[in-house]
Amino acid sequence: MPGNKYFHMLRLMRNEKRPLAELRNIQNEKLRRLIDHAYHHVPFYRERFKKTNLHPDDIRTIDDLQKIPVIDKDDFHQSENSDLIDKKIKNIDQLITLHTSGSSGKTLHFFADHGYNQIRKAQFLRPYLTNGNGLFDRVLWFRATPRSKQPFHERLGFLKTYQLDAGMDPLIQIKSIQTLKPAMMRGYGSTFHLMASKILEENISVPPPRIIFTDSELLSTASRRKIEKAFQTRVIDVYGTFETENVAYECHKHEGYHMAIDCVIMEFLKEGNPVKPGEVGEIVFTVLDNYTFPFIRYNIHDLAAYTDRPCSCGRTFPLMKIIAGRMYDYAKKSDGTKISSTPLTSHMWFLGKYIHEFQVIQEDIDQFSVLIVPTKFYSDKAAKKVEKGIYQNFPKAKIKIHLVDQIKREASGKFIDFKTLLTRP
Ligand SMILES: [Zn+2]
Repeated sequence: MPGNKYFHMLRLMRNEKRPLAELRNIQNEKLRRLIDHAYHHVPFYRERFKKTNLHPDDIRTIDDLQKIPVIDKDDFHQSENSDLIDKKIKNIDQLITLHTSGSSGKTLHFFADHGYNQIRKAQFLRPYLTNGNGLFDRVLWFRATPRSKQPFHERLGFLKTYQLDAGMDPLIQIKSIQTLKPAMMRGYGSTFHLMASKILEENISVPPPRIIFTDSELLSTASRRKIEKAFQTRVIDVYGTFETENVAYECHKHEGYHMAIDCVIMEFLKEGNPVKPGEVGEIVFTVLDNYTFPFIRYNIHDLAAYTDRPCSCGRTFPLMKIIAGRMYDYAKKSDGTKISSTPLTSHMWFLGKYIHEFQVIQEDIDQFSVLIVPTKFYSDKAAKKVEKGIYQNFPKAKIKIHLVDQIKREASGKFIDFKTLLTRP
């Protein structure tokens, strides 16, 4: 597809409010083209389609998608790169290599050509721009790996970002905000949570930005409230994955996350079957613009529920709500059942007075470690509350609490509040 990111950005920004029927047509058209391409040029899909006796003509609209088998990262791992990439591409070095975070313990390399990469960049920017990030606003962005060189357009002051390490001392981060006085901030919810905790504990004054955009992690209501209170502003959360770029985002109405249906098809499946509105399912993506390394019915193992109710902001992109992170964030009980990690962590969201940050680690069935970065108010009473929440689900648990200065981020820079050392399902 021709055009640079600015061309795509204008196109994508307009799409948000197009009539739904038009957007469905765009999806169907892109889907047909993608399926045809994958069948003829990508051995991995060709083989799968043949196995299930599928021909591109069988896939005319989204309703036909269910005929195609669902895949996930494991399927890609079992295949050679050469089978996963458009076989017309002779020189892989000309492609852009992208990586998934590996927070699941499994990384994935995949590829994009330069054309699609421009679409990705536009897709990345859309949630910020349509939510009020002005082209000349001063943006402070806390990242796992801040870039070292400023691109040309930023040197002209256009879409400029100041980037800082998300993992640095929160007090230094707060100082930078006081100095820079950004109009917008971006980063992980956990980075802002930690700063918010310090700001409230030590009564620090910070110049309020117009908006804080959070991303990459599951943002709890308690965490959101704390950030909004400390920074005296509102939080807009953005959902994206490495495989898809930013594909769902909140607006100022906070009625859910708008799905970028011009770029992806999102299905919500439970045991392979579509769920009804409001029911929780695993998100399965079809990425509509990556022809180099197609993702067709790719299960990302995040849980969400969609709604067919429109948002009052006027965007036509339908809404969903993220329920939980990756499925492997589940805790295991002695009878072998898996439960969401949220009941093991959610009680601690309300202990913000005592705890800056925490991480629950399931080391074995009925054996947990809890890492805690304490505030000055932390006490044995708080420790009892921490344990009580875990006992509710694991009455026989052995719990060790470790008070630490900081909690290590994942290789991606992401913070996770629950980890399991048990073999993943
Ligand atoms: Zn909206």
